[in-house]
Amino acid sequence: MNVLLFGKPGAGKGTQAPLLAKSLGVGTLATGDVLRSATREGTPLGKKAKEFMDRGDLVPDEVILGIVGEALSRPGYARGAILDGVVRTVPQAEGMQRVLQKLNRKVDAVLAFDIDNDEIVRRLGGRTVCGNCQTPYMGRAPGETCEKCGGTLMRRKDDEPEAIRNRLAVYQEQTAPVFDWYKRNGARVATVDAVGTVDDITRRALKALGR
Ligand SMILES: [Zn+2]
Repeated sequence: MNVLLFGKPGAGKGTQAPLLAKSLGVGTLATGDVLRSATREGTPLGKKAKEFMDRGDLVPDEVILGIVGEALSRPGYARGAILDGVVRTVPQAEGMQRVLQKLNRKVDAVLAFDIDNDEIVRRLGGRTVCGNCQTPYMGRAPGETCEKCGGTLMRRKDDEPEAIRNRLAVYQEQTAPVFDWYKRNGARVATVDAVGTVDDITRRALKALGR
């Protein structure tokens, strides 16, 4: 079973990926991870990707999809994969379909972890980080003191309400056409309510997958 995960920023997709993988007996695959290991191992595609990264350019979809395809053909993914953040656009969805077809597989389901936007702004807005040692804190205000090193807590620019709303708008704009594409192409597409305990959310996700 191959499941593609989507999630608004702050919806906990990264927490759910390994839990779902364990329940389903499949591997997790995140683009950043396979890209890093391919460049580290110096595979032909890894070398190609590194050339782009060294120039400060984005690695093209076709190189990334090649690396993802190589990873998926390994034994750890024989039973399938939880694909975390692998597809973000319709061209990437089409590319992924070609990669999976070669392996005689397909995306069986697409799960989108969803939370009300105001709740996300509230959650991420409650996040601060020590400006000195980078320790993250929840529910602490900017300007307070870090317990670990005495540094001053600050809010990341990314976590300012305006920036969060902007990221949410980008997510909405990018993903809506991708969901439509998967519906047209026969995948099970479901939205999972991501408010609640980690266990609750995992249970809902598995139910959406028919488990
Ligand atoms: Zn600190």
